[in-house]
Amino acid sequence: MNHSDSPLMNTYNRFAVAFDHGKGALLYDQKGNEYLDALSGIAVTGLGHAHPKISACIEQQAKKLIHTSNLYHIPNQTQLADELTKLTGLRNAFFTNSGAEANETAIKLARLFGRKKGIENPQIIVMEHAFHGRTLATLTASGNRKIQAGFEPLVSGFIRAPFNDINALKAIAESQSGSVCAVFFEPIQGEGGIRIPDQDYLNQVRTLCDEQGWLMALDEVQTGNGRTGSYFAYQPHGIKPDILTTAKGLGNGFPIGVCLAGEQVAQTFGPGNHGSTYGGSPLACAVGHQVVETLFEEQLIHNAAKMGDYMLEGFKSLLEGRDYIRDIRGKGLMLGIDLDDNCAELASLALSQKLLINVTAGNTIRLLPPLIYTQSQADQLIETLSKLIRVFKGDDRTKAR
Ligand code: PLP
Repeated sequence: MNHSDSPLMNTYNRFAVAFDHGKGALLYDQKGNEYLDALSGIAVTGLGHAHPKISACIEQQAKKLIHTSNLYHIPNQTQLADELTKLTGLRNAFFTNSGAEANETAIKLARLFGRKKGIENPQIIVMEHAFHGRTLATLTASGNRKIQAGFEPLVSGFIRAPFNDINALKAIAESQSGSVCAVFFEPIQGEGGIRIPDQDYLNQVRTLCDEQGWLMALDEVQTGNGRTGSYFAYQPHGIKPDILTTAKGLGNGFPIGVCLAGEQVAQTFGPGNHGSTYGGSPLACAVGHQVVETLFEEQLIHNAAKMGDYMLEGFKSLLEGRDYIRDIRGKGLMLGIDLDDNCAELASLALSQKLLINVTAGNTIRLLPPLIYTQSQADQLIETLSKLIRVFKGDDRTKAR
């Protein structure tokens, strides 16, 4: 369909396929063709499609109660907040419907904390190549000119720093520490191209934040909920952020997001400071609870770590050393393969092979398979994609294989 004929706004270049149903890591189009999902609706359906426990949970809760508003107590919300605060050691939660809204909450929380501390114009340090969402504040916080262009005036109050560069943050501390209230970043940048910082970066930022009295705010919208092989990506570092956001995998496709606050910031908001009509509904929180429970019951976080290592090795053994491969990296089921040039076309080539992948930042193949992947699905992904890359790059050795 020509865009001008479509009843939809022209915001996405969509592939010419519509899916009818799914099961686990597989999707079926309207003609019944089967596809292997290595994207999970962009890091959302970690438990796979139509997970029986999630479908049953939605059915049962929908029959009982969907929405009441936050004017009343919502026991499912308290229960999920309790689970997430226990998981993180943070103190309390505010529920939203998306990642961007969770990040808006984080930004407002950090600013109000700064103001209450006496900073007149609190600044938040954000990173180059970051992605935090499409609302005005979150697109301003994002480090990608493309998503900002045309939407000026942007929101003020952000200082940009290079990612994974502790000295750049120290330089800001020297020149303008007093105006900063928080450092806000993704522990692994997703949209920016699966950028994994140095092993000690998070710890160094934590130390600097402690020294400067800054809040450490992490966006785990994409990395959270088991994706990187731990519940949250920061956890293996033995530190705690002051503010943490997540969404995507928490609902397995049902819209939910959350902003969690540590002890220092937990009492910053008071009634009237923030709100949401839908956020934290009985239904959304029933699903969130079921997702968390299922991740543990089915040992999917462990599986993400195991399958992630397996695939990293697999891709390395088939692709590493070829002159058009710049890098192969990953943490759990968040994998990136950098080619030497733009490779956006690979996503449609993969689709024609019945494989769903994504290309981000121009030349990074981004893989975000569901956490339920079996070894044979991992093998299928490694084989199909490696071959596709070699053909795409006209690698002669392909023919010999
Ligand atoms: N933050 C990160 C790290 C993301 O990857 C995304 C989405 O891709 C968002 C925020 C925005 O989330 P949403 O699209 O649910 O608003």
